[in-house]
Amino acid sequence: MTETTRVAVIGGGVIGCSVLYHLTKLGWSDVMLLERSELTSGSTWHAAGGFHTLNGDTNMAALQGYTIRLYRELEELTGMSCGLHHVGGVTLADNRDRFDMLLAERAKHRYMGLETEIVGPEEIAKIAPITNTDGILGALYDPLDGHLDPSGTTHAYAKAARMGGATIKTHCKVTATTQRPDGTWDVVTDQGTIHAEHIVNAGGLWAREVAAMAGLYLPLHAMEHQYIVTDEVPEIYERSEEHPHVMDPAGESYLRQEGRGLCIGFYEQPCKPWAVDGTSWDFGHELLPDDLDKIEDSIAFAYDRFPVLERAGVKSVIHGPFTFAPDGNPLVGPVTGMRNYWSACAVMAGFSQGGGVGLTLAQWMIEGEPERDVTAMDVARFPAHLRQEFTRPKVIENYQKRFSVAYPNEELPAARGLRRTPMYDLFDSMGAVWGAQYGLEVVNYFAEDGEERYETPSFRRSNAFDATAREVRSVREAVGLNETHNFGKYEVTGTDARAWLDRIMAGRIPKPGRISLTPMLSPKGKLIGDFTVSCLAEERFLLTASYGSQSYHMRWFLKHLSGDVHLENMSDRRTGFQIAGPRATDVLRAASRVAPDMRFLDIAEVEIGMTPCIIQRVSYTGDLGYEIYCDPMAQRQLWDALWEAGQPFGIKPFGMRAMMSLRLDRFFGSWLAEFSPDYTPGETGMDRFISWKKEVDFIGRSAAEAEKAKGADRQLIAFAVEANDADTHGYEPVWIDGIVQGFVTSGGYAHHTCTSTALALVPAAWDGDDAEIEILGEMCKAKRLRTTIFDPDGTRMRG
Ligand SMILES: Cc1cc2nc3c(=O)[nH]c(=O)nc-3n(C[C@H](O)[C@H](O)[C@H](O)COP(=O)(O)OP(=O)(O)OC[C@H]3O[C@@H](n4cnc5c(N)ncnc54)[C@H](O)[C@@H]3O)c2cc1C
Repeated sequence: MTETTRVAVIGGGVIGCSVLYHLTKLGWSDVMLLERSELTSGSTWHAAGGFHTLNGDTNMAALQGYTIRLYRELEELTGMSCGLHHVGGVTLADNRDRFDMLLAERAKHRYMGLETEIVGPEEIAKIAPITNTDGILGALYDPLDGHLDPSGTTHAYAKAARMGGATIKTHCKVTATTQRPDGTWDVVTDQGTIHAEHIVNAGGLWAREVAAMAGLYLPLHAMEHQYIVTDEVPEIYERSEEHPHVMDPAGESYLRQEGRGLCIGFYEQPCKPWAVDGTSWDFGHELLPDDLDKIEDSIAFAYDRFPVLERAGVKSVIHGPFTFAPDGNPLVGPVTGMRNYWSACAVMAGFSQGGGVGLTLAQWMIEGEPERDVTAMDVARFPAHLRQEFTRPKVIENYQKRFSVAYPNEELPAARGLRRTPMYDLFDSMGAVWGAQYGLEVVNYFAEDGEERYETPSFRRSNAFDATAREVRSVREAVGLNETHNFGKYEVTGTDARAWLDRIMAGRIPKPGRISLTPMLSPKGKLIGDFTVSCLAEERFLLTASYGSQSYHMRWFLKHLSGDVHLENMSDRRTGFQIAGPRATDVLRAASRVAPDMRFLDIAEVEIGMTPCIIQRVSYTGDLGYEIYCDPMAQRQLWDALWEAGQPFGIKPFGMRAMMSLRLDRFFGSWLAEFSPDYTPGETGMDRFISWKKEVDFIGRSAAEAEKAKGADRQLIAFAVEANDADTHGYEPVWIDGIVQGFVTSGGYAHHTCTSTALALVPAAWDGDDAEIEILGEMCKAKRLRTTIFDPDGTRMRG
């Protein structure tokens, strides 16, 4: 007889067990975990068990904080030991850039309430005395760093789940997963078939194979990883207290006390991917053969940093595989286009992140959405078209850069050129300096003859500064041209299209020929999209939003699709250009004899040259501008027409750096910076685009109305910052009256108005003008800007 369960979690590593526990914790007890061998039979059993909160993404850091705090709770609940060692840890910086990164991290921690601290070499020597501090500028001390017993912790999760009613079947291998027409799953195992409403793939080292059972590819790959446990070290066992962790990014190592000796692991440059052609089902509780050659240079570096190591004998070498996504963060959440299939894979730091992953997934499944923006680990942050030959080099790159400085303007070189438009070669010949977005090549700026074709990664103003200023000037003074390939674009048609959009979007759905801007809300009233909706005909609408959120938005659309509504993701099937600046209309007229007079927020279908185009009279530059869309096959012809027509008006191409500078003049927010599931319409000013009058119970309406009635707690405002050579990027703390009361959502240098500009969330009640923003450890005066710095009454933009 077929057994039934509400959820079948496949995989009994730390992640599967955490998911199972959190499902019971949040109220679902009819849940089951299937493990092909014993619990911990993947990468879990041989982990070093270290945990820390440090993560470049603040929400990931918060979830890591949750994970660490959970262990005591688990111990109390189950009476089992997780083998916790809360010893604290330091992350060293041996050069200016690394130190800048730690300063930026520390600044973020201030408003997150994390008690980290910047310490100098003398303090480091006291905290972690086996460290040779020669050449060290300082370190970030985190009292929450520590380590635990991986196996004990996994079994504690499992026990807690059982106490909540969950079933765990070991020696139960899943061999197939087949979906029934009603969206439920038959999970075929070597112990029989289980009928489950939902599946969670927590297959760890076998996550790819488990995904393939459902016809799915998940972008993850395993890497080999090695750590060494030493014999006894007198400088360690003679101490009265345990030695803290030391992360040494320069040496790509992490070190901690293990019993009376030490344990040190490496993220070595000559690293090796594992199981390139798939993970064998025969792999289990074995380790990989030692490969000390691979970490020879790392060991030599470590001898210099921790001289006691040179005298310590090697007790054991642990060499095992674990999985990574292309950016090193987990792949969590519902898989786009697949009903009731959930990913909990590619968790490379299961003991820092496992609790957060379990909590997030359980909230998503049971409550419909996670409590915070989890974009950094959302499985939908990658497009569905990725394959192994993209994933593997990116995972290798990520492993090698695990301890590198992560710069806000950095473009990574691995697996580039995946998606290019017909403009690629031409723009390249014009000096394009490329970036990558969601696998697509995007021009960041154009270098002129004699300028470097590479933007120097930096926390400070980079070598792109002058080029960006030049491109901004050409837009504001004449006319600039930029590709519109990197917008997410959707076409919605059908007799129920308008009604569907009215329900899914909070704003007004425009009449034929017009455009409106609208937030999309979750049921809890969080921002899950900022869309431009255009109506070409009563039953034909175009939507534009962020290119990188295609899978995220498609998941939501597909989940809510109903009635006679046809939805198509046109993102890569419609491309084109925007032209912006005071001469934009002149260029359009010169390029098309039939171009109509268009008001701000009009849409029209017009031929330009030989190409049928859709033109929208909007521009994210905040200037007079048009977005012009065409079939990618006709893009070069459209270019010829616009470029030629634009010559008398001084047309120049511009890139994303200029675009992001231009939008600052008008305080235009951007997706995932100002507008994200962390924020609400009331906080961000998006409430002005909500149509309170429409008689539709749009998704998120009651939550938005409740916020309107109560008033938002925070407000999004702009500051002019007295910055030196570094502008804000995001998450810098805002000090008001000597206390951190807010944080920057995004910022940069607004070249047209020569203003270092920051957008920030501060308490709604604050009506002052003067604050300070901490940039790389320096307090910079910040003055509130009450009106936009360019075109305050909008006459230029509206034309
Ligand atoms: C040498 C080394 C050191 C590490 N050190 C640390 C550290 O210090 N701190 C840290 O946080 N992380 C560390 N890690 C990483 C950590 O081990 C992983 O993040 C974690 O184990 C991932 O757990 P998981 O549950 O996702 O996967 P896994 O542990 O691989 O578990 C997957 C489980 O799924 C089961 N399974 C797969 N397919 C099926 C199927 N078809 N049917 C039934 N069951 C199936 C497997 O048997 C396995 O038990 C280290 C890893 C290595 C290799």
